[in-house]
Amino acid sequence: MLDKVPDYRLDPPEDRVFAMCDHCGREIYEGEEYYDIEGDNIHEDCFDEYIREEYADCRKEAEFSRAW
Ligand SMILES: [Zn+2]
Repeated sequence: MLDKVPDYRLDPPEDRVFAMCDHCGREIYEGEEYYDIEGDNIHEDCFDEYIREEYADCRKEAEFSRAW
């Protein structure tokens, strides 16, 4: 019979929250890699999106301006 239930007490999740991500608002856990961008804590996974949003105004379409 399958009566072997894993005992989670023997392996407690010890995820210590280090900071909150300023992009997604979720926890950054101890030992995780993150970016500190001028005081903003950003998950490594959120970095790309964060930068895209941060520099959204810099995004241009490559197009020669036409002088009419
Ligand atoms: Zn995040």
